[in-house]
Amino acid sequence: YDVYGAPVIAKSGRLRGITIVLHDITEQKKLEQVRKDFVANVSHELKTPVTSIKGFAETLIDGALSDPVTSKQFTEIIWKESDRLQMLIADLLDLSKIEHAQFQLHLEQVSLKEIANEAVALLASKAKDKEMSINVYEEGSSIIQGDSQRLKQIVINLVTNAVAYTPANGQVTISLIEKQNEVELHVVDTGIGINSTDKLRIFERFYRVDRARSRNSGGTGLGLAIVKHLAEAHHAKLQVVSAEGEGTTFTLRFPKKQS
Ligand code: ADP
Repeated sequence: YDVYGAPVIAKSGRLRGITIVLHDITEQKKLEQVRKDFVANVSHELKTPVTSIKGFAETLIDGALSDPVTSKQFTEIIWKESDRLQMLIADLLDLSKIEHAQFQLHLEQVSLKEIANEAVALLASKAKDKEMSINVYEEGSSIIQGDSQRLKQIVINLVTNAVAYTPANGQVTISLIEKQNEVELHVVDTGIGINSTDKLRIFERFYRVDRARSRNSGGTGLGLAIVKHLAEAHHAKLQVVSAEGEGTTFTLRFPKKQS
């Protein structure tokens, strides 16, 4: 608590009492801690690829350049780590933009089916590498009022995860179901699942169940935080249902019209 006290003086000059203001700063402290953790996480996430890039470049300069096989191998690592750094910076900038109070969606009538198909086209080769299929299923009309670019980003992030966290030969389905006032978007996978403790935290920035696995799959740890904020901006309800070893379903319920 922040404590603030002031004497209450009567006209006569006599002390009549004391006003005490107790200010609950628990919430403020929590926010401050979240901010500190975030800065520490960002620093760590940026440092890791930079250290690796610097190390491999130094080894090349110190003589490894003369060996063509090593040169190629190291240059590829440098490229991969730079690519990772670029993705991380892009996601960080985007997240900070989305979180800003002045952030606005460009609303229009959009077909979620079209958006799902576009996302699938972009991710098809990734899925094919793992012998996976991605299907889109529509029941009723999937037309809502939303920001097409941002909706595509939501679907891409969810489907990228579904592919990354599902073993080879698995299946990913995007279902669009029209209800009376809402359109439901389900991204269903037959993957590794998420246990109930982790499920509560996956929407936090940089929270990962398995850091190494996420890193190998090219994730930045920000995908679901971005999805959560974009869902909120669309007044959509976001839910996750999962069974370990069986699969996960992320569901978004969009109002047909933004009020
Ligand atoms: P990342 O870049 O690590 O994938 P995200 O914010 O997209 O970051 O997801 C956070 C974490 O949630 C992931 O690291 C993973 O552990 C877990 N996760 C997300 N989607 C799925 C899924 N479909 N199946 C299993 N785990 C998932």
